[in-house]
Amino acid sequence: MAIILKNLSIVIYMLHSFVSAQIFTTLKHTHLIRNYTNLIMEDSKSQCDVLKKSLSEWSFSTPKLLLLPIDKVESNYIRRNVIGAVFSKVSPTPLKHKISLVSYSKDALINILDMDPSITESEDFTEFVSGNLVLSSSVPLAHRYGGHQFGTWAMQLGDGRAHLLGEYINNKGEHWELQLKGSGMTPYSRDGDGRAVLRSSIREFLCSEAMHYLGVPTSRAAALVVSNDPVLRDQFYNGFPELEKAAVVLRLAPTWFRFGSLELLARQGEVTTLKILTDFIIQEHFPSINPLDEDRYLQMFDEVSHKTLQLVAQWQGVGFTHGVLNTDNMSLLSVTIDYGPFGYLDAYHERYIPNNSDKEGRYCYGRQPEIVIWNLEKLARALSVLLNQERTGQLMEMVKNLQKHANDKLSVVFRKKLGLTTDQPGDLQLTQQLLNLMQETSTDFTMGFCQLGEVQLEHILEPEHTKEKWALETLKKAKTFQTFIEAYKKRIALEPELTESKRQALMKANNPRYVLRQWMAQSAIKKAENYDFSEVNLLLKVLQTPFSYQEEAEEMSYSSPPPCWARHIKVSCSS
Ligand code: AMP
Ligand code: MG
Repeated sequence: MAIILKNLSIVIYMLHSFVSAQIFTTLKHTHLIRNYTNLIMEDSKSQCDVLKKSLSEWSFSTPKLLLLPIDKVESNYIRRNVIGAVFSKVSPTPLKHKISLVSYSKDALINILDMDPSITESEDFTEFVSGNLVLSSSVPLAHRYGGHQFGTWAMQLGDGRAHLLGEYINNKGEHWELQLKGSGMTPYSRDGDGRAVLRSSIREFLCSEAMHYLGVPTSRAAALVVSNDPVLRDQFYNGFPELEKAAVVLRLAPTWFRFGSLELLARQGEVTTLKILTDFIIQEHFPSINPLDEDRYLQMFDEVSHKTLQLVAQWQGVGFTHGVLNTDNMSLLSVTIDYGPFGYLDAYHERYIPNNSDKEGRYCYGRQPEIVIWNLEKLARALSVLLNQERTGQLMEMVKNLQKHANDKLSVVFRKKLGLTTDQPGDLQLTQQLLNLMQETSTDFTMGFCQLGEVQLEHILEPEHTKEKWALETLKKAKTFQTFIEAYKKRIALEPELTESKRQALMKANNPRYVLRQWMAQSAIKKAENYDFSEVNLLLKVLQTPFSYQEEAEEMSYSSPPPCWARHIKVSCSS
């Protein structure tokens, strides 16, 4: 039965590729796609009831992405403008030197890819992650997209060093796209070499997993490999490039489409392709939207904007700064993607800039909600190409409301961080009052919130109750700390059910103790450069339960004041 279904699905798929573009939104097409989806689901259910121990037992699902317009040119050369296509077919470039597996996420392997972790022991697995082994079920693709970079339209960008290997529908019926980053040149490499270095790959690998466990929507990282293949990088942009090691991350997302995926087609006037792609994304990734509804693009924008504003509120809540919030780095599924020169706050400052290349601070911590709204407006402009004047007007009205939604979502996130449960006027102002004190005193954001939830409020002004709490001690130096505590107590009194122990429990559940601070990543990277991956793996483990006190983490000082040298760490776009 499974074989018949599989063959049938391939026939339908081929039929589809043939009929493809023009009829994409017709009833017939939608119906066929639905049937096709069901067939694949059946297919995957019968095949994948157990975890796979070998890659020979594992395969990609039938590639639906190939239904989208594909670049007719198949030879891989750079600096060309691709027209009328969403993807170019291109294979990864094999690494030449010995490949070592740095780390893998057991959780991602088991719960996303249905792989038994023992699969990582085989040479096939490292070859697969490095791009050296392309499975027969894979059709590697590079995606063509554009984007606004630092506020300016940058035209065609695309996957310059990433290969989308294929789609996988797992045991739970979830759809995941597997992508390699650092796997060689593509038609979109422009002046780049298609590679990624170990330091930035470790940062992306650890941070994507860490964000997941912090409860922040994100792409995932399944595995990371390194090889001695030389990659030349001017890390500090000081004119002294150095040779570094090449690394590849196998990363996963429900889809890798970005705001820039639609922007490029809209800006280039490729309206048919824009409509095909937008309809495909709605059909595949927005199950709550009827793909035939005339208002579907407005509904899509509404969902993307709400989820993206929720995402940025969550970033603010964990003190995360993305670093490069260009529209090509904004996921249409509102998950954090493309980790580059990101950073988590140590001492709170609203102008915290993790990216050394961002001289103006466009992408500093405090501006993220504003920038995300700016980016959403660019997405709205792209979608408006598909709309009549009236609907375009409605879309722009939606854009006008984004600031209010952003504030509401921020308010909820920070209310939880303060251990509060109901919505009261003035909550955002109370949060701002606290953040001002943190900024005035350079209080550590993560531990400041943690420790505020570890001491009884009625004793918080007494030195003996806070002397062990280094971040809280700093915060208490603020001139108006007592005024804040009084306002906080008054606010708590508005919730009669909210006992002191409940407040503390809520704060513990909503304030992580461990985040991937620059110095922690840096220390693990230094060891990994010498093939000692122990600290990368320790961090992966610690960051899987970031809200719980862990002896191992305390021994490593992960909740202590950052070391002095942390102030001098520089992270740039060079990766
Ligand atoms: P990012 O800042 O990593 O999001 O990358 C911005 C754009 O530059 C994307 O189109 C990337 O694919 C491309 N890019 C970045 N680094 C490289 C590289 N080493 N080789 C080729 N393309 C790159
Ligand atoms: Mg990017």
